[in-house]
Amino acid sequence: MPENRVAELRAQIDPINLQILELLNQRASIARQIGQAQQELGVSHYDPEREAQMLQELEQANNGPFSNETIKALFREIFRATLALEEKDARAKIRVQRQTPDEKTIITLPDGTQVGNSLFQVIAGSCAVESFEQMDEVGAALAARGVRVMRGMAYKPRTSPYDFQGLGEKGLEIARQVANKYNMYVTSEIMDASQIPMMSDYVDIFWVGARNMQNSFLLRALGKIKQPIILKRGLSATLEEFLYAAEYIVSSGNPNVILIERGIRTFEKWTRNTLDISAVAVLKLETHLPIVVDISHSAGRRDIAIPLARVVKASGADGLMVEVHPNPPVAMSDAKQQLSIPEFNAVMDTLELGMMEPA
Ligand code: PEP
Ligand code: MN
Repeated sequence: MPENRVAELRAQIDPINLQILELLNQRASIARQIGQAQQELGVSHYDPEREAQMLQELEQANNGPFSNETIKALFREIFRATLALEEKDARAKIRVQRQTPDEKTIITLPDGTQVGNSLFQVIAGSCAVESFEQMDEVGAALAARGVRVMRGMAYKPRTSPYDFQGLGEKGLEIARQVANKYNMYVTSEIMDASQIPMMSDYVDIFWVGARNMQNSFLLRALGKIKQPIILKRGLSATLEEFLYAAEYIVSSGNPNVILIERGIRTFEKWTRNTLDISAVAVLKLETHLPIVVDISHSAGRRDIAIPLARVVKASGADGLMVEVHPNPPVAMSDAKQQLSIPEFNAVMDTLELGMMEPA
């Protein structure tokens, strides 16, 4: 009877599946041991030559009915899964990886202001320091809405070397003066590790821009200081690369890192970048570090700031970052995206923060 024959053959398949399962897992645990041994030796486990050699041997040993191409495709999938397992093992060990759902890093500033606890923090200020008057006007508006951390950018990594590059140390002086006047903290972008001593005189929180996210020398140097670090996601960085960048800082001794999502490059042209809101959800699962979202550089336009702010707040992020300028159309950088003071107030209204009690 053909039906019996099918049942009989199926009965032969089932134990083979179990054998394959056992062999796959045996293979994975041996590969894992190889990975550990290689890590001790300080070499990478990904070895394309070894993969090519294994595929060649399999091809020679293959008697069908599967074609060599099929066998190679199946084994390539096994190799890929093995590598992914090791990457997961390696990631589980990094310091920035969240180990339990309630684990979180809270950054506490000297007056008790916190980033990473339940309070949604707004970090704001102009794209760049242009003058005392400009910073003073913005500073007053930010302080009136309870902002604690002000942008005081004095070194601007512009696309063109002919564009405004920032006021340098003079800009830092202005930012410090305004922050002191309104009792706020200053965050400012650092371009090179050699600037740490000089900038430490003016800056409370160091900022690593997207273009420097993978500057491991800078990240390591910032790991040696006490001030908190705001680390931006690189222009085309994956979340894994982003976390490894944070790991450079944390593993060098500075646990106070705030991540900032700033949009990623895609084919879309109506926004400057595409705001990767899923990054917030994924990072919340993967890391205990606080996550803030830059609604200015991700959008590149001011007319969608309110809906973006709402989305960011709803996403579970620890805060948002927004650029504010007294007269955006004449700003020396990012004129299209900076918010005017009334527009900034409208964003604050929508977030229903209103006046916050000084911490
Ligand atoms: C900035 O926020 O000042 C900035 C330059 O943005 P990004 O590094 O994301 O381009
Ligand atoms: Mn800017």
